[in-house]
Amino acid sequence: MSATAERPEAVDFVRQIVAADCASGKWGGRVATRFPPEPNGYLHIGHAKSICLNFGIAAEFSGVCRLRYDDTNPSKEDQEYVDAIANDVAWLGWKWEGEPRYASDSFEQMYQWAVQLIQAGKAYVDDQSQEQIRATRGTIKDAGTPSPWRERSVAENLDLFARMRAGEFADGSKVLRAKIDMASPNFLLRDPIMYRIIHASHHRTGDAWFIYPMYDWAHGLEDSLEQVTHSICTLEFDTHRPLYDWFITQLGIHHSQQIEFARLNLTWTVMSKRKLLELVQSKLVRGWDDPRLPTICGLRRRGVPAAALRNFCTTIGVSKRDSTTEWALLEHHIRQELNAHSPRAMAVIDPLKVVIENWPAGEERICESLINPEDPAAGKLQLPFTREIWIERSDFMEAPPKDFFRLGPGREVRLRHVGLLKCEGFTQDANGTVTELRCSIDHATLDGSTPRKVKATIHWIAAAHCRDAEVRLYDHLFTQEDPTAVPEGQDWKSLLNHQSLTVVSNAKIPPALAGAVTATCFQFERLGYFCVDPDSSAAKPVFNRTATLRDVWAKAQKKA
Ligand code: ATP
Ligand code: MG
Repeated sequence: MSATAERPEAVDFVRQIVAADCASGKWGGRVATRFPPEPNGYLHIGHAKSICLNFGIAAEFSGVCRLRYDDTNPSKEDQEYVDAIANDVAWLGWKWEGEPRYASDSFEQMYQWAVQLIQAGKAYVDDQSQEQIRATRGTIKDAGTPSPWRERSVAENLDLFARMRAGEFADGSKVLRAKIDMASPNFLLRDPIMYRIIHASHHRTGDAWFIYPMYDWAHGLEDSLEQVTHSICTLEFDTHRPLYDWFITQLGIHHSQQIEFARLNLTWTVMSKRKLLELVQSKLVRGWDDPRLPTICGLRRRGVPAAALRNFCTTIGVSKRDSTTEWALLEHHIRQELNAHSPRAMAVIDPLKVVIENWPAGEERICESLINPEDPAAGKLQLPFTREIWIERSDFMEAPPKDFFRLGPGREVRLRHVGLLKCEGFTQDANGTVTELRCSIDHATLDGSTPRKVKATIHWIAAAHCRDAEVRLYDHLFTQEDPTAVPEGQDWKSLLNHQSLTVVSNAKIPPALAGAVTATCFQFERLGYFCVDPDSSAAKPVFNRTATLRDVWAKAQKKA
């Protein structure tokens, strides 16, 4: 490989290591990384961090990055997850090298290597149950107790292991353990389990196997088989590294360099696959792609652009120290992207009818506005203005306080793209709910002039030129910023925010938007960014609020 001229600056410690290795020729200038999910759930934004890091490094250093499924546990895995993972990685914008890899493609090789360890007296079949093994692990102070089966002969171990493979023994009746050191200060080296018996069908190997490798046995071997140079993983694998090293050294095979980085934690949400699965299975959310979840498919359904996720991942960087990133930073990147690329529209979410008394019925005035002020090339919108319009209910108050600058009896606002609008009166129903405003428009201001000062501008939509739509408004899924800090004696689910989803069924949107294709995003003026949900149809449009307009993160940065 040629010189490093085109390489970006080594911006974080992982890239520094890779850059140094390329400079020294450690791997012959080769860079091979991988993203190794276990197909036992859907990917979340934490995985996106790992994906962007692994694929990003491969791209920057002219290397390759592979997608590899660590499919070692048939009881928790499923083809549905395999497909969803590939889909999510591709949607994020990355291309893996060749076909996806699977741990299960190497089960035979792993088995042969296990036999090799048995032959070398480095592994043995243990008849203890997994509970007994756990109970005899020892403590920080005391060494573990060697299994009564630890000194079995090589011949007996080979025989038993072959019969485990053949399906002769019941689940849980035997395991294969590495014979390392029952007194090691690192518990993972106290004769860890390499294989357990599981009589279950695997989503790829079917009923070919009755024994399945443990993740810790398989993972390093997969990296080795794929000639991975930099095996990038999260910090908790720090203590597993000596074990991977031990296996690789015993077998004398390619030794990838493991580098650990701090995982992504986000405020207001959970990232544990177990918890996400529980939310989905107990129907506390509408599915893996519920827009309130931090899953990649949930964020996609919510309307988050892939570029926003990639930019977010770049901004947060990688470090060795655990920390929690603010949800507001993610929203900041979502807004940045959507602001640049979404067409504007005026829609009303909580409609209140306004009749403009000095505007003749049947008369239309076409007002113009830019489709996207950030992108003048996008062109102009034509907005028909009529005698009856809808405005946002919250833009009117019967008895407004001093600091409320929008409509109230006798008050005036600017009606966006039209002119000055004055409230002359209102009607109420028997319950006192305001049903309609009677207003007047100052014709002299239709040219955009402002003879009097008004402090507020409100949006609107013509009653004769709109469609009803369902709008789904999302709030945080949890009631507290750190949902992992569960009060003593409470279930973590007690922290769920029961107001996290509000469904509005009679929002008013421009007719043209009713036919917009799934995932198209719009900025509804003053309201936020909204995207077309897959449930949407021309007959019944459905929009998700991706984000509001208020950039909490940018504001906080300005203050700081
Ligand atoms: P588990 O192993 O408990 O099923 P996991 O979240 O580690 O859950 P994997 O499928 O093993 O899921 O993850 C694939 C890759 O993504 C791993 O390399 C893992 O380290 C990385 N990863 C997982 N969660 C995060 C996170 N929050 N931040 C960064 N990387 C993560
Ligand atoms: Mg994992």
